Amino acid sequence: MSGPHPTEFDQVCSSALDAFQSGKTLTSDEIVAATTRFPFLLQCVSGRGDPDLPSDEADLRQKAAIADTVIGNIESGIEALRSKLLQSTQNHPPHILSPFNRVQRNAQNPLRNKYRLYLAALEKNLPQYPIPMNAFFYMLAGKNRQRVAASFRDGDRTMFAAENFSSQCPIDGIVACHETVHVAQNDAVQSGITTIARARQYLERLKFLGKRPSVVLNGELPAYTRELQIADGVLQGALRNPGAVTEDEVIASLGAKRPEQQIVTRTLLRLARVFPGFFRHTPDQRYPESFASEVINICRSERYAVYALSSSDFLGDLEEI
Ligand SMILES: [Zn+2]
Repeated sequence: MSGPHPTEFDQVCSSALDAFQSGKTLTSDEIVAATTRFPFLLQCVSGRGDPDLPSDEADLRQKAAIADTVIGNIESGIEALRSKLLQSTQNHPPHILSPFNRVQRNAQNPLRNKYRLYLAALEKNLPQYPIPMNAFFYMLAGKNRQRVAASFRDGDRTMFAAENFSSQCPIDGIVACHETVHVAQNDAVQSGITTIARARQYLERLKFLGKRPSVVLNGELPAYTRELQIADGVLQGALRNPGAVTEDEVIASLGAKRPEQQIVTRTLLRLARVFPGFFRHTPDQRYPESFASEVINICRSERYAVYALSSSDFLGDLEEI
């Protein structure tokens, strides 16, 4: 936030944080900066803006305790997956480890449990817990988000995790890695915001995408590719060779026991078939049409509206497909 040359946006962020911490009224620019950079703080201090935070304190404490366990399972599951990956093959492209590093780095965020962040705000203890730059948060998936082990909400940089997220099942860790790619994408978008005008556009874009369940294809293609690469590494290259293993063997190796875990695993097998070169793909390369169509089908079957960006700029033209 305070590099050698703070941008206009950085400066307004700092003054917004000062005003916020000293209880002053924020200017409209400061509100834009704060809503872009630290929406989770605004939500937790005001108690408004996050429909998933319980208003009842007993409920909040209960959810905080469950989320502590779930976060522990995610972090240990991700570490287990990383060790499995490092044991299975030698030559990994460096980018394949970025999801693991991202989760590990966020373990330094003392209030990554968003229910605990809210409790700290209610108890006026926030200053004791400095929130690191690029922090993200965790909440429980609850009834509304049960179909997958995890999902990510850009607006307040929160990952929703299923209560039954298992550190023992590689498939759950693989899904968390997919969501972590979205965290890294949001980091990149945030770092491209240098002016208040761009911050306003960013908030408009989030508002537009939030009108109904939506995904941006440009973000999904790298996330699914990373899932394939990690799964293939854990399976010692079996995924790039669809004839080498049966579907049931893959399901067993990835610890997919529950129906939704099996659906996710079968989806990966389908994607591997339409994208045979996935294992040598790097983030700067294009994606095959057949893979993009299959990802679109998956998103539509999960009832998401699918949008495509005309360029790599998140604030660029968006087209529904
Ligand atoms: Zn995704």
